[in-house]
Amino acid sequence: MSDAEQPTDDGVPGDDEFEPIQVFPEAEDMDLRPGADDCYKCSTCDTNCPVAEVDDEFPGPKFQGPEQWRLKRQDDRDIDDSVMKCSNCMRCDSACPSDVPLSQMHNTARGEYVEEQMEKFSREYVRNRILANYRRLAPLGSMFPRTTNFVMGLSATQWLGEKVLGITGEREFPEFATETFREWWTARGGAQVRNEDKRIAYFHGCYSNYNTPEVGKALVRVYEHLGYEIMVPDQHCSGTPMFANGMLEDARRSAETNVRELGAAIADGADIVASCSSCSMSLRQEYPELFDFEGTEEVAANTWDAVEYLRVHEDLEGELEGTSVGDEFENFAYHAPCHARNQGLDGQTMEVLAPIDGVEARDVGDSCSGISGTYGWKAENYETSMKIGDEMFDHMEDADAETGLTECPTCSMQMEHGTGYEITHTLEVLEAALVGTEADSQ
Ligand code: SF4
Ligand code: SF4
Repeated sequence: MSDAEQPTDDGVPGDDEFEPIQVFPEAEDMDLRPGADDCYKCSTCDTNCPVAEVDDEFPGPKFQGPEQWRLKRQDDRDIDDSVMKCSNCMRCDSACPSDVPLSQMHNTARGEYVEEQMEKFSREYVRNRILANYRRLAPLGSMFPRTTNFVMGLSATQWLGEKVLGITGEREFPEFATETFREWWTARGGAQVRNEDKRIAYFHGCYSNYNTPEVGKALVRVYEHLGYEIMVPDQHCSGTPMFANGMLEDARRSAETNVRELGAAIADGADIVASCSSCSMSLRQEYPELFDFEGTEEVAANTWDAVEYLRVHEDLEGELEGTSVGDEFENFAYHAPCHARNQGLDGQTMEVLAPIDGVEARDVGDSCSGISGTYGWKAENYETSMKIGDEMFDHMEDADAETGLTECPTCSMQMEHGTGYEITHTLEVLEAALVGTEADSQ
């Protein structure tokens, strides 16, 4: 395991300041960090909330968090159903100058709302459960990927999805890969490099496994090029879509598996790296905030974003100096996902790409893409989601680039949907620069 220290700026979860306390002794599930009562009503969180900015009916994070907690403390009030309109982008967390644990409050309130107030046979509950548990459905879809892609691509399927389940028919379902990342990993015989001094365990998440295995392959090729031994532990969904839909028991089951498997990899000397910014966010911040089982803190403290890890542990600038990526692939419009911003990673991609010869990248600004995982897939949120994304779409078009770039799978869906850009992942650019576009099929 690496002894390099995790970054310690305020936006980075896993910070040693975290110390859960019992603010409401009578309510056993409601642990909060110190600061729950530190809200001084400055409304900075509200002005940074992308949903509140475009949806006048959404009361905003100040109400969802500290005000609702205070109300509940006074009497036994129900959770306001507007908590389901929070997209879980977590921008309010980094905006608050008083370290109020807003997203932890939202996640806890949402879990309580779904558990105690939501009708379990309602269309909304069934739809949310399906969206939150993509990992359970994806293996079925990827058994016959071409057939699934054909059926899911039919306009009749999209129409039915909206009418029956309330999943918007405006978006095209992401395609399943014909070979999952894990199938590829097994077929190549697993790790090709052995190095007990440089060992990482890859948390690929659901999307890189079932839909974009090229991202996982890029990670493997880049890390092996730099001499790392790679482990690919058994894993479940990180839990991000479950938190966003208030399915905390589903998230707990996934988290237990992940913490057990990743904890074993840490014991074998590995650090954990994730290619999806929401997955690293979940392992670093949401697990220790919401779960108390053994190992969550250790996993959080040893988890890294895949590019961040290389910046800290390698001379990445030196490795990239003088490399190139081919002139078909060098002009990018970059969007930093909210969950990367929340980990203090918003500037890193632009810095990392700078030494590559010929690469031009424009950061399209700090606005939210608007899709926020499953939020923008719900028919009732589609228009709000696109309104939030408008600023990013405009900046992408102004960038006049060839390719969009981001580290979040659902941001990439929204970027492609709103602009028609083809989208790639930063690891794929690093792969092209360090290993070459003619990377062997391994
Ligand atoms: S930003 Fe923080 S202190 Fe200000 S209103 Fe929101 S929760 Fe309260
Ligand atoms: S998590 Fe995002 S959508 Fe939810 S209240 Fe905070 S800023 Fe608004």
